[in-house]
Amino acid sequence: MPQRIICKSCGYILYEGDEFVYPGEIVDGYGELCPSCKSKITFSMDDIRMELKPAKKR
Ligand SMILES: [Zn+2]
Repeated sequence: MPQRIICKSCGYILYEGDEFVYPGEIVDGYGELCPSCKSKITFSMDDIRMELKPAKKR
């Protein structure tokens, strides 16, 4: 299951891949700004977990 980190403002895909990465590293890599909409990148671990394991609550 690939991991995906997406800008919440514009939907720009900041990272997509099979390797798990820490969102903080990705955000740092972009200088904390979305390259597409220039807004400050925000993310929540909940969203990322959902990407890894889509809504499967027992
Ligand atoms: Zn954006």
